[in-house]
Amino acid sequence: MKNLVQLFSTLGLISLLLIACNTDDVTSETTDRPPNVVVIFMDDMGFGDLSSFGHPTIETPNLDRLAREGQKWTNFYTASSVCSPSRGALLTGRYPVRIGLGPAKGGKRVFFPNSTGGLPAEEITIAEMLKEKGYKTGIVGKWHLGHLPQHLPTTQGFDSYYGIPYSNDMDAVEWSLAAFFRAPDINNWNVPLMQDTTIIERPTDQTTITKRYTEKAVEFITENKDHPFFLYFPHSMIHTPLFASEKFLNTSPRGFYGDVMSEVDWSVGQVIKVLEDLNLDKNTLVVFTSDNGPWLMMQEYGGSAGLLTNGKGTTWEGGMRVPGIFYMPETVQPGTITDLGSTLDLLPTIANLTGAQIPDDRPMDGFNLMPVLTQKEKSARDHFIYYRMQDIYAVRKGDYKAHFITETCYTRDNQRTVLEKPLLYNLNHDPSEKYDKAEAEPAILEELVDLAEKYKTEVVAAESELDKVE
Ligand code: MG
Repeated sequence: MKNLVQLFSTLGLISLLLIACNTDDVTSETTDRPPNVVVIFMDDMGFGDLSSFGHPTIETPNLDRLAREGQKWTNFYTASSVCSPSRGALLTGRYPVRIGLGPAKGGKRVFFPNSTGGLPAEEITIAEMLKEKGYKTGIVGKWHLGHLPQHLPTTQGFDSYYGIPYSNDMDAVEWSLAAFFRAPDINNWNVPLMQDTTIIERPTDQTTITKRYTEKAVEFITENKDHPFFLYFPHSMIHTPLFASEKFLNTSPRGFYGDVMSEVDWSVGQVIKVLEDLNLDKNTLVVFTSDNGPWLMMQEYGGSAGLLTNGKGTTWEGGMRVPGIFYMPETVQPGTITDLGSTLDLLPTIANLTGAQIPDDRPMDGFNLMPVLTQKEKSARDHFIYYRMQDIYAVRKGDYKAHFITETCYTRDNQRTVLEKPLLYNLNHDPSEKYDKAEAEPAILEELVDLAEKYKTEVVAAESELDKVE
């Protein structure tokens, strides 16, 4: 009897040891490893283009769920109103003007197929920061920070790259509004598709691009389920020319733009699903935002800034305020956040979440948002600078924004105006920037003028990489 008890307890111990050693099934559930990070970045999607941000006919159920179960930020800013500088700022936590992406007057504002510049090698990206912590790093989507070999994502901390190197409307055979407004023809845009450093397709079949990006993103997450990973997922959509898979065509009451948004929303759902299937969802921060506001001259083929004024290319709210969604079940406290946040804050926030080291040898422009995400504390960001190229067009502090230069961008003919007197708006009362408070609030205006002066004095513009061309 005593021997039998001993035998059973030995067997019990062995099975316990077997369970403990069988790590295959449980590794992805462990939470003692640093969290994963997924950043999904839209192209030219406006503040008003999600159903959860007020669009009446676009349906984005997967994104709406993230906004509801995570945090929905309604005063969230991208650091530039156009592609390349916006992307560089997100990845480095620094205003574009500091990192060679703020050209002088008359310079180019983004990289083109004849550009030879790129995000400078000495800049430290989120991917490089996390690699120091042993993360696996991948980018799926549009890079737009230099397409020559010395500037590709694999030189900036990414282990792998699948996507297009610049905007999906470049290398155009015919560049006209008519070409964007016709039934899209992939052959009109001779954009390459790259795997790491090799061109694997040209022109890219953009009709299946969202679907293929999604498959690659799911593959990256699955392959790296047992390591901490960082996935940067900048969609090529919903920049014109618009393309969607067959399955999504003619499905949305919003028309073609709504069809494309539906496919992007499906894609977000697929990313969340694989995280859930692998039990990684609670250990993964998912961020969703956009690189700049809607491209208004594309008319109904472009997006909507909702109640905000103007769009892409401008420092009106519609150009730079974008939807911000943060999702991480049990870590991010659900709610709507009206405090200020920016894509500039992702690097320090991710550093704080993962225990990575923020670069300490250079000025940084981001703030750690973790106390807001986890405890709904007040945001550490109390101001934001609206640069256009090297100029400060506007600044925001707290509720108020002062404009010093304005530019409208409804057509190809921008109207740039250096204001004799600054305009002042209370953005929380007046998000559409309609009612000038400059006369009524001189003390607040003075404070904002001082803030602009401080940045003008302290921020040194780096030589523009954007003006380097063949
Ligand atoms: Mg863009």
